[in-house]
Amino acid sequence: MRLRKVAGALDAHKEDKKYFIENPANNKGKWKNVFSNDNKIAVEIGCGKGDFAIGMANAFPDINFIALEKFESVLIRADEKALKEDIPNLRFVHFDAANLKEIFDDKEINIIYLNFSDPWPKTRHAKRRLTAPSFLDVYKDVLKDDGVICQKTDNQILFNYSIESFSQNDWYLSNISVDLHSEDRFNIMTEYETKKSKLGPIYRLEARRYKN
Ligand code: SAM
Repeated sequence: MRLRKVAGALDAHKEDKKYFIENPANNKGKWKNVFSNDNKIAVEIGCGKGDFAIGMANAFPDINFIALEKFESVLIRADEKALKEDIPNLRFVHFDAANLKEIFDDKEINIIYLNFSDPWPKTRHAKRRLTAPSFLDVYKDVLKDDGVICQKTDNQILFNYSIESFSQNDWYLSNISVDLHSEDRFNIMTEYETKKSKLGPIYRLEARRYKN
């Protein structure tokens, strides 16, 4: 049985209220209240089944993790995993990142994670890539001035596109890796990463804004 076919399946999960944020726009500018602390806020866009967000939230209890996902069927899987644990610094939001500014105020986020984002290989779909200039404009606003975007992908074409997109829009890059798994670097794996790293290298970068 496919979960996405189960009417109200996500509603049932949302009702647990432990990890799901039901009306995320209500927290715009007030996410710190959700966690009852002043800690940094990290947002994963397209969290899939949640391995990364759960692993990172456990590894960094002093950072608040908000994991966004637009498909409810996979988000239910993430919630099922998280419900086996008690992770106070984690929340899930069923949301399309195209509307990020509806739920985050300017300068509210410290870190954005883009993990194995859909590559949208056709040129006519380039605007949908999560590192397209229109998305970078939004990230620029919601990120703090010293905020960072961390990207991982197995897709070399998306990686090259992202390097160009960041570079042409006043972001600078650091900690670039063209074979992340060959390095001795702390790394929480995503579901895609577990699968794709058996087939080829994993690319990684960090992007920050130039200071004015
Ligand atoms: N990050 C996970 C991983 O590495 O295993 C999932 C990778 S999967 C290729 C991409 C995920 O991003 C999908 O679950 C998709 O639904 C989600 N996604 C794509 N565009 C999105 C958007 N605009 N807002 C929220 N989620 C998005």
